[in-house]
Amino acid sequence: MRFGINTLDEFNLAGKTVLCRVDINQPVDRQTGKLKSINRIQACVPTVRELAEHGAKVVLLAHQGSDIEYKNFYTTAPHAEVLTELVGREVRFLDDVTGPAAREAIGALKNGEILLLDNVRFCAEEQTLFEMKLNLTHEQQAKTQVVTKLAPLADLYVCDAFAAAHRDQPTLCGFEQVLPSAMGRLFEQEFCVVSGVMESPDRPCVFVLGGAKVSDAFLMMETVLSKGAADTVLTGGLVANILLFAKGIHIGQASLDFIQKSNYGEFIEKSIPLLEKYGEKIVLPTDAAYLDSDGKRKESMIDSVPGEAGVLDIGSQTAANYADIIRAAKTVFVNGPMGVFEKPETEHGTKTVWNALAQTAAYTVLGGGDSITATEQYGLVDQMGYICTGGGALIRFLTGEELPVVKALRHAAKTFPADQPKE
Ligand code: ADP
Ligand code: MG
Repeated sequence: MRFGINTLDEFNLAGKTVLCRVDINQPVDRQTGKLKSINRIQACVPTVRELAEHGAKVVLLAHQGSDIEYKNFYTTAPHAEVLTELVGREVRFLDDVTGPAAREAIGALKNGEILLLDNVRFCAEEQTLFEMKLNLTHEQQAKTQVVTKLAPLADLYVCDAFAAAHRDQPTLCGFEQVLPSAMGRLFEQEFCVVSGVMESPDRPCVFVLGGAKVSDAFLMMETVLSKGAADTVLTGGLVANILLFAKGIHIGQASLDFIQKSNYGEFIEKSIPLLEKYGEKIVLPTDAAYLDSDGKRKESMIDSVPGEAGVLDIGSQTAANYADIIRAAKTVFVNGPMGVFEKPETEHGTKTVWNALAQTAAYTVLGGGDSITATEQYGLVDQMGYICTGGGALIRFLTGEELPVVKALRHAAKTFPADQPKE
């Protein structure tokens, strides 16, 4: 038991039918249907392998979105091929989730065999619960089709989908109401890493917050500053633009238009008390980069950005300063790039900061889809301390919320006894 949740150590797995929910949702090429990355599939391999090697009959449940969130879904068939290769055992795919074919295949599994069912979001309840905010309680989720059809065939539910732990859906929170449940190894590891950063980081502990998800960044900033986890917050991206504007610094009309268009006005108001209270810990850019009329990169001090410009990156002086602070830190948490890193003209800030993350002796934790893409782009994946597969879940965890899946797993730990309980 860790964090009030059972681990795989607490269950005898041999001969058990285990429903294991993984998050192997990957970017998909819409033209070819091919997976563009396999990092999340790789991350769940230790759990899947452990279950199979200990003689469980393994049923994998997973979702796959598209690059247009919630508009289309893809089959999980390609994932089975990748899993087969990575696990080193056959992972059979079946194009069904709750129907007779799926139930028959589950019933016929032998010890050590692995079956991946099709995309659970093909089930209406899984999808609409998230999208339409039906707000079904966990008890009500236990009465959905997917749980009522599959749970009777299983002995144990394992959730290894930390990246989806903020989602309140039947395949994530429903099974814990009716089956003994445990977290998988990846879930356990990610939970441990992010709790460590929040509760007892080696100091100085630096948070680098950038990117475009301003509401998440502000929530995180408030939490990590008020709980004392952060000694310093380095800001970039839109997050920095908003804080700068709130301080009365003119950051160019194009930046302002963007802030207004995105309805970020409330964060300008929130910035003022935040800067008053934690001004010494929040570091703002001292210079900035924008594009001239020929699309060329130009830099200026932060208080002399030309009237019409839009700030698209932190400047070189800021980047060098952030790199120094990162190199002197003991723990660094990163979410969100420093600028529009997708374009060569405006990647300098992100690249400089990311190189410092690779060089520092500090323990570095990085999360967020675009932040991971930048890491891959610069070939620095192996040099980060920990890359968290969960973006949304990680952020919500750091804001201090109890994640729905964590709540459900804790409920199961209290409700159903483990085979060999361990403290
Ligand atoms: P992550 O996916 O790592 O959590 P976000 O999704 O919050 O990060 O932010 C990434 C996006 O922010 C990128 O597409 C990047 O182009 C954009 N971005 C960063 N800085 C700026 C800026 N100054 N102006 C506009 N967009 C920005
Ligand atoms: Mg993103």
